[in-house]
Amino acid sequence: MTINRREALKVVAATTVLGSTPLGSVFAQTKQTDVIVIGAGLSGLNAALNLEDAGFNVRVLEGSSRIGGRLYTAPESEVPGHPELGGSGIGSSYARILYAAKRFKVPMEASRPRTEPRHGELMYHVRGSGIQLDEWSQHTLNPFSDENRRKAKLSSFQYSIYKNNPLPKGDLQAWQNGQFADHDISVYDYAKAQGISPQAIQLALGTNMSYGSSAHDLSMLMGYQSSNMIRTLYSGPNASSSGPMAAKDGNQRIPEAIAAGLKSEVILDQHIRAIHSNSDGIKVTASNGKTYQAKFCICTLPFSALRHVKIEPYLEGIQAKAVQQLQYTPVFQAHFIPTREFWLEDKLPPSMWTDRTPGRFMALKNDPASPDRITSYLAFVNGTMAKYLDRLTPEHATQAILSDLQKMRPATEGALKPVKVWSWNRNPFAGGAYAYWGPGQITTFSREMREPWQRIHFAGEHTAVVNRGMEGAMESGERAAIEVMERLI
Ligand SMILES: Cc1cc2nc3c(=O)[nH]c(=O)nc-3n(C[C@H](O)[C@H](O)[C@H](O)COP(=O)(O)OP(=O)(O)OC[C@H]3O[C@@H](n4cnc5c(N)ncnc54)[C@H](O)[C@@H]3O)c2cc1C
Repeated sequence: MTINRREALKVVAATTVLGSTPLGSVFAQTKQTDVIVIGAGLSGLNAALNLEDAGFNVRVLEGSSRIGGRLYTAPESEVPGHPELGGSGIGSSYARILYAAKRFKVPMEASRPRTEPRHGELMYHVRGSGIQLDEWSQHTLNPFSDENRRKAKLSSFQYSIYKNNPLPKGDLQAWQNGQFADHDISVYDYAKAQGISPQAIQLALGTNMSYGSSAHDLSMLMGYQSSNMIRTLYSGPNASSSGPMAAKDGNQRIPEAIAAGLKSEVILDQHIRAIHSNSDGIKVTASNGKTYQAKFCICTLPFSALRHVKIEPYLEGIQAKAVQQLQYTPVFQAHFIPTREFWLEDKLPPSMWTDRTPGRFMALKNDPASPDRITSYLAFVNGTMAKYLDRLTPEHATQAILSDLQKMRPATEGALKPVKVWSWNRNPFAGGAYAYWGPGQITTFSREMREPWQRIHFAGEHTAVVNRGMEGAMESGERAAIEVMERLI
């Protein structure tokens, strides 16, 4: 059977979603490793899977002692109900993830509930005052002058500013094509121009942000892209209607199952320190002194980790700048087990959106047999407050959160047992939760930063174009695998 290069790659791309391995026998296996993939997160594993499906010889090297990267399910022995420390919600349009779960038989279910504002289970605690949601619009601490903005929910205000979205609905590549550079400005500058006061910007756009550290360092264009993705994929006649999904026993089971389905075993504890590329191939060196060679490399490290790896020849120009400057959202989590039902004692909603160290203080209900039972509490802290907690020891950070909680709600005293602290910023293999672009950065380097350098190709959620998060990681792994196949065939 003969098959030309273009036809082969088309089939490979199709099999990513449809799932079969028609090319496995087409390309002869060689003894030499064709491709080293660095990183056993979703992007690396999907790159390896695509390459193996096409018959190539792959070796995946992972720096940490576990598979999954930023998919990390807390072990049940540490936090009851095993909440997600990393990626949680799997959108119903995440075709690659959902297909991988199906192919490797990982059972999926509706995403497990976090306490919802609509159930009257959330209150605000800002500027030193506890405020019920229905009091907010009239409250003296509400910093907005405009009536509609006063009525908006503080906890979701950040999404409301993207409503005059200039990106064409359905065109999920438009954000990087340069035409919308005028919108590559900070959220702060945009909101200020809309007449929103600095105090209101700080509270509603710079606290508990989904992306970024402050309203000054996040590009509006990034927010427009995320909201364009949501309105394109989740509204209209062809939209998928079901809510977010999750793997039944935790999302980490998905990358673990993909890894188990690979022909080659993932090699753990290989903290890569250097990647050398020359005309013959690539050589990768780990901190334990081991070296690995292959024809090509797919590097999936977040740039916050890649900036500590020596690449030879050195990256140049815009790409070097991107690796140094791309930013990652700081996320700090502290998990607690409630030892008393303090929310019944003070008769206040169990969850709080705060502007202090507890961040979003969420009552988690992760017991399928008893869906209304609060199984654990999570202080989910983002942005500058997460950076502050990162400077403390884990014990001091936990104490700071408990002390703030006690001032906000005296009933919490002695009612929360700390069980786990996790900082994505301090994790050397992550350096933050997920990439975000500062003002001007999308226009300057978002396209160039994913270009191959010598024999090194780049993947990872930060290099995705159409999707974000987990599906973005899968998209990027597939794209990088196809790039390398084009050079191998
Ligand atoms: C708190 C949080 C919440 C999230 N929520 C969602 C959500 O609700 N929905 C969603 O879609 N996405 C969410 N995400 C994002 C999603 O989890 C990520 O986009 C995705 O898992 C990233 O996959 P990746 O392969 O690009 O990177 P990673 O998973 O980070 O993989 C990179 C791998 O490289 C390894 N590595 C790093 N440095 C080295 C080195 N020097 N040598 C060798 N190996 C190295 C790492 O250990 C890691 O395993 C969330 C993430 C976080 C942290």
